[in-house]
Amino acid sequence: MSGYTPMMEQYLAVKATATDAILFYRLGDFYEMFFDDALTASRELEITLTGRGAGQEERIPMCGVPYHAAEGYIAKLIDKGYKVAIAEQVEDPATAKGVVRREIVRIVTPGTVMDTRALGDGANNFIVGVAASGDRYGFAACDLTTGELYVTSFPATGEAVKNALNVYRPSEAVGDGTALALLTEGIAPTNRSIVTTTREESDTRALAEQFPDEQWNRHEAVRQHAVAKLIVYLNETQKRSLSHIRAIKAYESEAFMSLDAFTRRNLELTETVRDRSRKGTLLSLLDRTRTAMGARLLKRWIDQPLLDRSQLDSRLDAVEALHQDWLQRKELRDELGEVYDLERLTGRIAYGTANGRDLNALKTSLQRVPAIQRLCQNLGAAPLSSLADRMDACEDLATAIEQAIADEPPANLKDGGLIRAGYDAKLDSLREASQNGKQWIAELERQEREATGIKSLKIGFNKVFGYYLEVTRANLGSLPEGRYERKQTLANAERFVTPELKEKEALILEAEERMADLEYEIFLKLRDRISEQMPRLQRLAESIAALDVLQSFAEASAERRYSRPSWTEGDNYELLIEEGRHPVVESVNENGVFIANDTRLSQSDGSILLITGPNMAGKSTYMRQVAMICLMAQIGCFVPARRAVLPFIDRIFTRIGAADDLVGGQSTFMVEMKDIQVMTEQATERSLIIIDELGRGTSTDEGMAIAQSVIEYVHDHIRCKALVSTHFHELAHLEESLSGLRNGCMAVKESAEGVTFLRKLVAGAADSSYGIYCAELAGLPDTIVSRAYSLLKDGGSITRREAAVTKEAAPNRDAAEAAAKSVLQLSMFEEPPAQVKPFKAATTPAQDKLLDKLRKLDVMRMTPLQALEWLNDARNQLTESGEG
Ligand code: ADP
Repeated sequence: MSGYTPMMEQYLAVKATATDAILFYRLGDFYEMFFDDALTASRELEITLTGRGAGQEERIPMCGVPYHAAEGYIAKLIDKGYKVAIAEQVEDPATAKGVVRREIVRIVTPGTVMDTRALGDGANNFIVGVAASGDRYGFAACDLTTGELYVTSFPATGEAVKNALNVYRPSEAVGDGTALALLTEGIAPTNRSIVTTTREESDTRALAEQFPDEQWNRHEAVRQHAVAKLIVYLNETQKRSLSHIRAIKAYESEAFMSLDAFTRRNLELTETVRDRSRKGTLLSLLDRTRTAMGARLLKRWIDQPLLDRSQLDSRLDAVEALHQDWLQRKELRDELGEVYDLERLTGRIAYGTANGRDLNALKTSLQRVPAIQRLCQNLGAAPLSSLADRMDACEDLATAIEQAIADEPPANLKDGGLIRAGYDAKLDSLREASQNGKQWIAELERQEREATGIKSLKIGFNKVFGYYLEVTRANLGSLPEGRYERKQTLANAERFVTPELKEKEALILEAEERMADLEYEIFLKLRDRISEQMPRLQRLAESIAALDVLQSFAEASAERRYSRPSWTEGDNYELLIEEGRHPVVESVNENGVFIANDTRLSQSDGSILLITGPNMAGKSTYMRQVAMICLMAQIGCFVPARRAVLPFIDRIFTRIGAADDLVGGQSTFMVEMKDIQVMTEQATERSLIIIDELGRGTSTDEGMAIAQSVIEYVHDHIRCKALVSTHFHELAHLEESLSGLRNGCMAVKESAEGVTFLRKLVAGAADSSYGIYCAELAGLPDTIVSRAYSLLKDGGSITRREAAVTKEAAPNRDAAEAAAKSVLQLSMFEEPPAQVKPFKAATTPAQDKLLDKLRKLDVMRMTPLQALEWLNDARNQLTESGEG
């Protein structure tokens, strides 16, 4: 005998089945936690820890939360990386013999949260399953809220796993021991992730049950195992049907451009380096989606650039058609704005948590589909027409919901008021009975007032006594003795009943109870019927999401003056960008002037560009802009350039010298070298390599030696396109020995007032690093700056002003100066662009104000006449302030 009370015995038995979760144990109106769970929960949730004598001498630690507030507490624990098991009473306490039976009805884990408020609309919440077999890994990723399931496999390397994890950013993973270490390493940085180890062998029987129509033998075994691990885990934790997980999207990981974690981060595709926020990323820039599904898909497209030309061309054709026709695009955007999150709605329907409002949201969304289809057809682009053709407006479902569900149903399913009048004869007759009963009561009130002459007599209702007649104390004298039965005495009134009133009451209450039950039953039937059509709804959601992303590309491209890229034909592997811009830097540039730059990497013009120049000159912005443009083209978006002719890039590598990995605890130089090692191993002729500040983390001699040998390796062995920046301007001599390398530098203008960065790339190498000048700009004390100049002078006989331009390393000093003088009419390759504003062009306050107004102008909402008037005003303002 343990000596515990029977209830505690039951608790311990339930807890034994969920050892890795915090058990929320339902007792009346509370969820209670005991023992270690109570200690953890009280600490994490900041709730009071109490104790309970449970038949033992020592009190058991305990704490609890009210059941109606549980959701918030659960979300908090999940967010901190715990799992929460919820044990409910599974029999009626009124009829139960002994301790009420309790069972775990669901285990909530970070990867299986269904409370979409906690997750946010714009992001998926993935749980992944990983299986290893020989030299392959199988990988499956599922979002339980939407029912998406992606499956792939790849060679068993840490790198490949990390790349996959980077696409999905799972909040939870299950896998067998072999893959476990990698998973932990790969997703640990997100912190709130959980990794669960499963048995080595996996139970593939679950596959046949979950996916009756799938021919599993067509999938590689290791993929089957990955999915099986996931499904088994989901079954164990969710303990309910997962009918919305049906469609398996299998793909080859080689179908997408490979981007390692560092490159993703460095290019700030979906989160910023500084604070991991979304603002200031390519994602936030391109996100003009109108639906939550679209927003999620956009992120996916950015995370997985395509390598397939026909797929890309059809995305671009669609974007072009939408781009050209702003009127229809606007209409389409309006329609899409009325479409709810179909994926999560269907998820809730399948999960049995959708209420009447959800069904109405589904209906409203479905009703938009015909108009969306029409607009797509009208736009006259084949990919849009075929998207429209694939859309199924599910009219049968919309009609069924329209007929059954009331216009404004309550949130609670058991309160009644869900189902429309006229939908169900039985329900209507019950409603009539209750209505008649109520009328009878109203009539009774009228009659009794008349009979007794008491005007204030009224009939009321409460949950304890039901219907009653109420007479105020002052009027009791006018009431004939024995007319009613006395029921309750209040301070200033008396309440009565009559046998007929009680009889009617019984009828009304019975009708109402039956009504609520019947409404609930009708609702469930309808919800199940919709649930059976899950695949149709999911396909529709998919098409709408794709359309939304395409229009988002078109909208952003129109707003930001992007243009359609084209591809280099055949084997000619040229990369040509005219007047390219960095999309994000351009968008946040406070003075609004971004200097466009050209890029040409080809057989004849050289495939490696070695960029020298001072800090802050714009080197990294320039290099990243080339990578961004290539990437944007390969997700099917227009690009920030006047013209771009691009090759298909299979991978983008970006490396930054001495990047901080303090968290990882590795020496920064070591990290750089490891990155370079991965690059040398994996880059192909079709890759794009970007190395910023190569060889910075070690001594000058060594750094320069390493930089030179890496560049030579890229040139001779990898032979891909590369942009390399270095502050070792001494490396400029490589242009003589490497036929495929060209020097470039960021033009700098010097004058009596100081140095101005022109942010323009010109051919040739830089003269100097302007390091001390930068220190001066940063506001270092004059003593330090002067001392630095004098030290430099001692070492290499340079005066302060001269330090800015050293003679010996200035093969093209003239070119840079010419560029500076003409304040930038100079482009690196072709004719000069029409009119480039100098970076430091001084604007007056009046101009600034005007520019600001121009930026905020909502052109789409103006009539042509208003636009003309605005233009005229603007010109007048400029002339008035003498700046015209
Ligand atoms: P570097 O890599 O040479 O140190 P960055 O590329 O970091 O220089 O650029 C420094 C800053 O200059 C950027 O933060 C950006 O605001 C600005 N900048 C860079 N390129 C341009 C450009 N083409 N036009 C306008 N501003 C630019």
